[in-house]
Amino acid sequence: MINEKILKWGTSRSVIRELFEYGNALKREKGEDAVCDFTLGNPSVPSPKEVNAAIKEIIDRPNAHAYTSATGALNVREKIVKALNKRFNADYSPDGIIMTTGAAASLAIVFKALVSSADENIIALKPYFPEYKVFIESAGGVCREADFDEDLSFSLEDIERKIDKDTLAIVVNSPNNPTGAIYSEEKLRSLAALLEKKQAEYAHPIYIISDEPYREIVFDGAALPFIPKIYKNTITCYSYSKSLSVPGERIGYIIMRPTVDLYETLCYAFLGAARANGYVCAPSLFQYVIAEIGEVFSDTEVYKTNRDIFYEELKKMGYSCVKPQGAFYLFIKSPLGTSIEFSERAKKYGLLIVPADSFGAPGYLRIATCVKTETVKRSLPIFKKLIEEK
Ligand code: PLP
Repeated sequence: MINEKILKWGTSRSVIRELFEYGNALKREKGEDAVCDFTLGNPSVPSPKEVNAAIKEIIDRPNAHAYTSATGALNVREKIVKALNKRFNADYSPDGIIMTTGAAASLAIVFKALVSSADENIIALKPYFPEYKVFIESAGGVCREADFDEDLSFSLEDIERKIDKDTLAIVVNSPNNPTGAIYSEEKLRSLAALLEKKQAEYAHPIYIISDEPYREIVFDGAALPFIPKIYKNTITCYSYSKSLSVPGERIGYIIMRPTVDLYETLCYAFLGAARANGYVCAPSLFQYVIAEIGEVFSDTEVYKTNRDIFYEELKKMGYSCVKPQGAFYLFIKSPLGTSIEFSERAKKYGLLIVPADSFGAPGYLRIATCVKTETVKRSLPIFKKLIEEK
């Protein structure tokens, strides 16, 4: 009677959530200062003041809480498209964008629209956001993993090995959760060349699904390549969760250029998938907020400060990690035992870091650096003690 596959996703909570709940219980018992919680990717900086100002203004409009059209209010889509076209010198059209309840919904919709048989696969680049697997499998497809290299970037050779005639798409997430890596233009061009070759070989499109919730969180002026100009068949899933510090409001979009193969069919398929998932329309209030505020984002300077402190100090202590160029995570190799053993040891001192096994990277751990700098500093003696215990 109950769908066993679905039940499993409900009963086996994610490791991240388990640790987060453990941290909350510990804080209640021993006080806030007893815990250094680096589990969740919950932005710690406030939303820009324009967000609340826009909410106050919009809330009195007669349509503030009404349904919008399924793809999102036209004036909202027009404004977003205009801003993106200006910023990226692109050719998006308001027909090619669908407002969604965040990147999670965007991805779930795209996967559901693409997968039509259980043989078909979508490639996730390790280490990857664990929900990809849930969304792909729930759409009825296979989540196929491709390996990463020592520099934490994807292995092109392994992608080539993993692509076959049933590959529909590959998910690219840059800046990356959990590594903070930004894929270089050169690397993305090599990926595009490989995909072009494979598309020709199998005579069907193989899409890049570009998952971009961290697009605005880039450090040291690093260049973030605009993937739709590097590879024609790119479908972008964007979210305002991190860029405006509004993850609880659930707002984002799917967008693609009109030159994407099967453009019109995809537009309808996305609508169909949203409908099948019961996503009637994205929250109207926040659609209007986005249109009102334009290209304004949270001040994320503290994420860079935290990255700098963590990276410098942990390296000095002997931890192995690659300097993140964006997002708000640091990915470290477990200095002793498995990542789960290391996370358990850290837990004893109230230090909560996530073993990356469910990201497809056993032996590594993720530190979410979207916290107060004071918490980062407080955690350093614990990291030192842990590595000295070896
Ligand atoms: N993709 C990645 C890589 C993420 O890290 C997250 C959230 O942490 C999401 C998608 C989902 O974000 P949203 O809040 O927009 O659903």
